Amino acid sequence: MHSSICFIGAGNMAQSLIGGLIASGYDKQKISATDPTESQRNSVTQTFGIQCFADNAQAINQADIVVLAVKPQTLESVCESISDSVQTNTPLIISVAAGIRSDDINRWLGGQTAIVRTMPNTPALIQTGATGLFANSFVTTEQQSQAEHILRAAGITVWVDEEAKLDAVTALSGSGPAYYFLFMEAMEQTAQQLGLDEKTAHLLALQTALGSAKMALESHLDCATLRKNVTSPNGTTERAIQSFENAGLREIVENAMKAAQNRAVELA
Ligand code: NAD
Repeated sequence: MHSSICFIGAGNMAQSLIGGLIASGYDKQKISATDPTESQRNSVTQTFGIQCFADNAQAINQADIVVLAVKPQTLESVCESISDSVQTNTPLIISVAAGIRSDDINRWLGGQTAIVRTMPNTPALIQTGATGLFANSFVTTEQQSQAEHILRAAGITVWVDEEAKLDAVTALSGSGPAYYFLFMEAMEQTAQQLGLDEKTAHLLALQTALGSAKMALESHLDCATLRKNVTSPNGTTERAIQSFENAGLREIVENAMKAAQNRAVELA
């Protein structure tokens, strides 16, 4: 039997998880959501056939699991508004809010609360996300499995054993989609300089990224070996790779990801 889940905030991330859960066969009678915006509640009820409420504290009364899916800046006030109910009913709390530490959430909820803090990324919106998860000391093994099940509705999941590692996850998969968008954008622009029309350049750049990621995921070989395998001596790919290496691409990536990690630490 499925646990009852209540999503606080029925925006993009909540809808992606709800859609993924229902598509994977989760009993929709066991899923509810809250949102202060009436149009949002109506739209979610119409799209998914789940119940939506305006009152957070009332809605979570029956829930085994509460997913905090509001914007980070709204989280403190939301937690304080549900803390009495959380203390009485002790549900598992899952937060998808970027950059808010589990200790803060625990304090806002009144303490001693089982919290799984997650760091999803934007492709979660099309169920192709990558999510890092961290469980605080109050979370049971069964609750860990429940949290993983829910986040799997949006893609793959990876646990980290220290919360600080979520800052590294942020620098890799959290911010990572933008790095790939930038790279594809640059490839598209150059392809047009080389004579391709915009549409063709766009399609080939995107399909190449998709194909490369899929190939790497399906292969037992690491990325360095896959790259070497498609780099013939003195060929076209080798010229391009040499150009990237000479320009210090690895150092550029290292600096960029460390900057993202530092910013994640600063923001928390
Ligand atoms: P969103 O704006 O689409 O959804 C937030 C929802 O919360 C809105 O529908 C809003 O009406 C509702 N809300 C506002 N105040 C509320 C309250 N007091 N009680 C209940 N609901 C309330 O935002 P989103 O993109 O879904 O992001 C939600 C969380 O997910 C954020 O904390 C964000 O950091 C995290 N996240 C999002 C993405 C992404 O790609 N969208 C990626 C990683 C993490």
